[in-house]
Amino acid sequence: MQFAYNIDNTRITPSHSGERAICQLCKGVLIGKCGSIRVWHWQHKSKDCDTWKEGETEWHRSWKERFPESWREIIIEKKGEKHRADVRTDSGKVIEFQNSPIGSDTIFEREEFYEDMIWVLNAKSFRDKLIFKPMADYKITELFEKNSARYRDIEHSLRMDGMELQSRLDGLRLRIREINEQKSSRSSQWDLIQLHINDTGKYIIRLIKLWSLPGTNLFYEKSFLPLDVEDKYKKAIKQDFEIKEIVEQLLKVDARLQEIDSYHVKMLNGVAYSLVPFERISSKSYASVTVQSKTDKNKTLFFESEDDFINFKIQSQAHNFLIEPGPRIEQLRNKRDVLQNRLLELIRYKSEFESDLQLHLSIAFNNHVSEIDKLTESLPKYESELSILEEACGQQQLEIAKKLHEVSITLHKERTLEEEKLKSDFANHFRFSWKNRRQSWDEASSPVFLDLGQGELFEILNGFEAKRISINTFLSQNGIK
Ligand SMILES: [Zn+2]
Repeated sequence: MQFAYNIDNTRITPSHSGERAICQLCKGVLIGKCGSIRVWHWQHKSKDCDTWKEGETEWHRSWKERFPESWREIIIEKKGEKHRADVRTDSGKVIEFQNSPIGSDTIFEREEFYEDMIWVLNAKSFRDKLIFKPMADYKITELFEKNSARYRDIEHSLRMDGMELQSRLDGLRLRIREINEQKSSRSSQWDLIQLHINDTGKYIIRLIKLWSLPGTNLFYEKSFLPLDVEDKYKKAIKQDFEIKEIVEQLLKVDARLQEIDSYHVKMLNGVAYSLVPFERISSKSYASVTVQSKTDKNKTLFFESEDDFINFKIQSQAHNFLIEPGPRIEQLRNKRDVLQNRLLELIRYKSEFESDLQLHLSIAFNNHVSEIDKLTESLPKYESELSILEEACGQQQLEIAKKLHEVSITLHKERTLEEEKLKSDFANHFRFSWKNRRQSWDEASSPVFLDLGQGELFEILNGFEAKRISINTFLSQNGIK
C-alpha cells in the first residue's frame, strides 16, 4: 500500500526504507520499503491485514495514480468489516484493479460489500486469447440481408401482378399449339387417305392381306369408313379366295377341251369318234366307250359295268377306244359358262366394293380438308389476340423492370445511409470470444473493464459483446476532469 497514517493522523507515502507508520485499516505498524526495483510502499510487519488485497504491481500503481491521492486506498467500513478500496471516486463509486484471477464467490462478496463499484482487469497477459470482431460488420451483414429481402418481396409482388397476363398469354399459346398439332395430325392422315384414293386396288389388296392374318382389327379404317366395314370386308376376303379357285377351275376346263380337240378322229358307221387312250378314260364313263379291235376293225363291243372296263386293261393294247366327243364338250362348255358367270359376278362385286371404298375415302378426305380449313380459319383470331397480349405483356415487363430498377436505386441509397450510421453507431462495439475464458467474470454484476495495455479498455457488455472506450473517456466518466 502507498498510504499510511503518521503520528499526526496524516496520510503519508514512505520517504525512506525503514520508516514507521500506522496502518489505516488495522492500526498496526507499517514499515517503509523504498527500493530500486519495486514501487515504494508500506508493508505490514507480518501479512497484509486486508485479505482481499493481492501483491501490488506497477500496473496497480499506475492506475491508482491516474486518480487524486485523496481517492486512493480508502478504508470502507460496513457492519464491523473494513476493507481498503483501490479507488473511491467523489461520487462514492469504488474502482477495483484486479491483476490475478479470482473466483465467482469472491467477486460476489466484494460486489455485495462495495455495492456501487467497477472492475478493471489486467488483461495484458491473456489479450492473445481475446478476439474482437467489429459489431458493425455483423450489423451491416444483417442490413444487407434485410435490404435484399425487401427487394425480393417487392420483386415478388410486382411479378405476381404480371402473372395474370402471363398466364392468359400461356393459355393462348397453348391453344394455338394445339390447333397446329391437330392440323398436322389431320394432314398426315389426309396424305395417307389421298394415297389410298389414288390406288384403291392396291389398298384393297393390302387390306385383304392384312385382314386375312389372325388377330388383326380395323381400328384405323373404322376411323373413316362406315360401321359395317367389317362385314363387307369379311365377304370380300371370302370372295377373293373364290375368284382364285374359279380361275384355277377354268384353266382345268380349258385344258380338258384342248386335250379332246387333240384326239384323232375315227369314223365309224358314219359317226365321228375321238380316239382316246385307255388310261385317259374315267372308269365312270364306261357306258359311253365303244371298243374296236385293232385286228378286225368291224368287230366292236361295249362295257356292261365299271368292273368290265377296269378288267379290260390287260387287253387295252389290242384295241382302240372311241368316244363320241359332242356330249363331253357340251358338258365342259356349260361348266365353263357357269364359272365365267360367277367370276363376272365376283369381279363386279369387287369393283362395286372398290368404288364404295373410294367413296368413303373421299368423304373422309373431304372431312379432313374441311376440318383443316376450319382450324386454319380459326387461327388468325387467336394469332391477333396473341400479338396484342404479347405486346401488353412486353409493356408490362418493361414497366416491372423499370420499377425494379427504381426500387433498387432507392434501396441502395437507403442501405448506404444506414450502413454509414451503423458504422458510426457501432464504431466501438465488438463481438468477442475468449479462449480459456475466465468464467467467474460472467457472474459479475458490476461493470467489468478489460485493460489490454494498449491505452484503451473493453467493457464486457454481455458474454459476447464488448464496448471499446479510451482511458481518457473512462477517467472522465469517473469524475476526472
Ligand atoms: Zn493493516
